[in-house]
Amino acid sequence: MTTAAQEPLWTPTKGQEALITRLRQLSELDGVSGGEGPVREWLRAQIEAQPPKGPFTVETDPMGNLLVRVGEDRPGPRVMVAAHMDEVGLMITAIEDDGLLRFRPVGGIDPRILPAQVVRIGQGRVPGVVGGKPIHLQTPEERKKAYRVEELYIDIGARSRSEAEGAVQLGEYATFDTPFQVLGEGLVMGKALDDRAGCLILLELLQEEWPVPFLAAFTVQEEVGLRGAQVAAYRLNPDVALVLETTSCADLPGVPPAKQVTRLGAGPALTFRDRTSIADPQLVRLLIQEAEAAGLPWQWKHGTAGGNDAGAIQTQRGGVRVASLSLPCRYLHQPGNVLSVRDLEHGLELARRGLHAWARELSNGGDRR
Ligand SMILES: [Zn+2]
Repeated sequence: MTTAAQEPLWTPTKGQEALITRLRQLSELDGVSGGEGPVREWLRAQIEAQPPKGPFTVETDPMGNLLVRVGEDRPGPRVMVAAHMDEVGLMITAIEDDGLLRFRPVGGIDPRILPAQVVRIGQGRVPGVVGGKPIHLQTPEERKKAYRVEELYIDIGARSRSEAEGAVQLGEYATFDTPFQVLGEGLVMGKALDDRAGCLILLELLQEEWPVPFLAAFTVQEEVGLRGAQVAAYRLNPDVALVLETTSCADLPGVPPAKQVTRLGAGPALTFRDRTSIADPQLVRLLIQEAEAAGLPWQWKHGTAGGNDAGAIQTQRGGVRVASLSLPCRYLHQPGNVLSVRDLEHGLELARRGLHAWARELSNGGDRR
């Protein structure tokens, strides 16, 4: 006999199931900034297994960006769509005599969340745990303060420096060892939904038939300063670009409504400006028009903090018109990012419709501002 309490909180539709399966695979891959190889290889294999419609090329540039150009000799504006492959994590920077590993964060990680995290090094080859001085050995003064990164280490169970050196090299990465989970009410959790959710949308968009040159950039090193996108935009030389991202979501207890950047489940978020770019008004207007015409939910990203690859793309060569489409995501840069599968579906649909509108309007000359 089944009771209500034993039933899952939520049952995905077939379409959602397919998205979740791919998002799970993407989020479980380890690709801290500068070490995106596994993510790139997975994406490349997917693209080769399900090629885009029309003539296309796939290349990995010297920085590691994966660039796909579809229908490059078609007329009309060159449309770039970007999503970053990298995730935040830790880099092993020193090995102590007793075999403990010292590390530095890669990307914006709050050191207060690090103690007691279970991590994995070298694509899961070496398991470990982040440790610090135990609480019962701390002075009352120490107990009041958060650990600093310098006071923490990764314990892989090695008993000496040479034993640790046999397992791990300096410069290797550690990632949070958090399994992807389907939660209740249409939500999923994973360590790298920022920005594998964007990568998934871009992968899906590559299956669409585009009337204009469609230039996909799966970028590297976004989390350490939008580095890969600069090179990708230079190489692809686009007229316009859409950046697919996740953005902070603060629909949480204790956060006043005015400070809630985005709300989970209320649709993809559009940005008018952030720390790194001011969005092109016409491109944003077209996205809004498409959302309203199709009855898709959308929301503004409130507040102007944060930045993304749009900032690096817009200043390449003679300038690129940019806009971003972001999925609200709770607990960004933490071991368990949470996002809504409905937002993912709506984000994909809005990106698809919006990009067709861009292609249509800009091919007709388009009003620039
Ligand atoms: Zn991101």
